[in-house]
Amino acid sequence: METKWKSSFIVALLVIALVVLFAWRTIGKRTTPPFETKAVPLLPISHEHVDPTSEFPDRFPLQIAVLWTAPDTSSENPLPLVHALKEMGIPFFITRDLGQALKHRLVILYPSVDARTFKQDQAKQLTTFVQNGGYVFAQNVFWGGLRDLFGFREFQPSRKRYHLAFVGQDPVMKYLNRPEEREVRLGSESYSEIFWSNGYVLGGGAMALARFDDGTAALLTNMVGRGRVYCLGLSLFDVVLRSQSNRDFEAERHYVNSFEPGADVWLLILRAWYETYAGDWARLATMPNGQRSVLLLSHDVDWQNSFVPCLDFVRIEKASEASSTFFIQTKYVDDANSKAFFWQSLEILRELKGGGSTLGSHSIIHSRGFNKFDLGSGREAYANYQPRGLGFDTASGATVFGEVRVSKELLDGQIPDQNTVFFRAGHLRVPPSLPEALERSGYEFDSSFTADDVLSNFPYAVPLNLGFDEDSRIYEFPVTVEDEEPPGFAKRVPQALDVILANAENEAVNVLLVHSNESTQKAPAEQDLLRQLPEDIGKSDMLHFAQFWKARDRLTWTLTPGSKSNEVVLAVSTKDPVEGLTFEFRRPVSRVSGGATLSSNNHRVILPEFNYGQTAVIDIRLSH
Ligand SMILES: [Zn+2]
Repeated sequence: METKWKSSFIVALLVIALVVLFAWRTIGKRTTPPFETKAVPLLPISHEHVDPTSEFPDRFPLQIAVLWTAPDTSSENPLPLVHALKEMGIPFFITRDLGQALKHRLVILYPSVDARTFKQDQAKQLTTFVQNGGYVFAQNVFWGGLRDLFGFREFQPSRKRYHLAFVGQDPVMKYLNRPEEREVRLGSESYSEIFWSNGYVLGGGAMALARFDDGTAALLTNMVGRGRVYCLGLSLFDVVLRSQSNRDFEAERHYVNSFEPGADVWLLILRAWYETYAGDWARLATMPNGQRSVLLLSHDVDWQNSFVPCLDFVRIEKASEASSTFFIQTKYVDDANSKAFFWQSLEILRELKGGGSTLGSHSIIHSRGFNKFDLGSGREAYANYQPRGLGFDTASGATVFGEVRVSKELLDGQIPDQNTVFFRAGHLRVPPSLPEALERSGYEFDSSFTADDVLSNFPYAVPLNLGFDEDSRIYEFPVTVEDEEPPGFAKRVPQALDVILANAENEAVNVLLVHSNESTQKAPAEQDLLRQLPEDIGKSDMLHFAQFWKARDRLTWTLTPGSKSNEVVLAVSTKDPVEGLTFEFRRPVSRVSGGATLSSNNHRVILPEFNYGQTAVIDIRLSH
């Protein structure tokens, strides 16, 4: 009896122990991360770019002088012009001093010229400068006192001009060879009004280079003495920065997969203006290693069955000596859209990383409503962040910080040597707080816009809050070609190739996005595209090119006369490690020092590899 009672007692104890253990394990699953994570510190916003005149000082004669004409009390800053000139690799400085500006051969007046900008004697100084062989590029000249210099009789302000076409021939239009470049859209007619433009009516001698749809001149040029002026009837603020912040009035003609250079044409005009009039010019090329363009390869991995096919893409890319960046959805919750699948993917992710692919974050719940999410607190962590998609574009418990930070925490904690710095939003939906959330969470790069939508095929610094005042530290690499638009990527390879060639003509970049949900059709299509790429168009994963672009953007350089008349000295100073930096010269180069090499056409100098914070001096001998 006693033994029987004893054994029942033991059985009961065992049952209780099992129940407790099971309950503990279940609770444990909900409250304690079963997986290793890596804490993401919350950083302050850097506010690096405070005073443009001290950020871009006068250093050498070849620099374009940007005369910042806005009164001190105005909030209008030269950021649009900074974007344009930096992206094009054109040397420039910013000043408020007309006398200092006129010591240089090329002068840009920004953002406008009205009756208060210049005193009479300054206007005279400016005119004399042009008569003596100076070149001025201005926008929105309103002041009657300079009508004769700029060659207009009057101007008509309007907010109802939706198109613009380039007309005639001029060296500043030398890059505008395609129909999509000869005509651009300023905004969609579904808006009753867009931004202000000023249509000029020409005076004697001036020539229209672009006309608005009402026939008034949008860009005009006037020869005065030995110099020349150009005058633009709209602001780079509206056609460059507004587009890049995606605050344009839907000026794009397509959303994706087409060539849309609506913002780029203005950058290309400034580049051509510089190359035409700066004499023996040199420019920091946009592409590395003397290439014309680079195709950046990426895959979005955002479904439970999207992981295995990744390996097929790796295989075909390896065969073409290429690699790619995989943007990973780190789905660890079940919701209305899908079950959790991050845990099952780890082995493949580690294999991808170990094999030389690079990884970025593609958020956690991949919500179509991401662009409407609140920023959040910045304290979101795997232990406390429980977002859930509720339907088509609704979610609960989700924030921008949460999607950005917790996905990084998981990837960095789970994948050896992973430091996630690249982000792509689900459905390419971009909340205005994304640059801040990324910067403060230690990211460096984003690829959440399409190139067509932002009308830009060059990477750029994304302004904070997608605004106009200040750049974040995040660089944007907009998607050029994707796989989902009907009739599907496999049938659109020739179209993709044409867009890539159009961008290569401008030395712009291309971003390819192929979802890895299947590889039987898409992998051969990608292989087909890679095989047809011309030799001088490079292939790269997104991360390595982005690191190049960031280092290029943060490079400081000077070009000064050498000891002999045909020699120049290039001095560079890096902030980041970088390989393949290229300078383009008007005159052919016959000799370089300092470990630099020459391209086959002798116009490009490719610099040696640099480390963090390195300076180098390179002697360059020019041919006649
Ligand atoms: Zn996606």
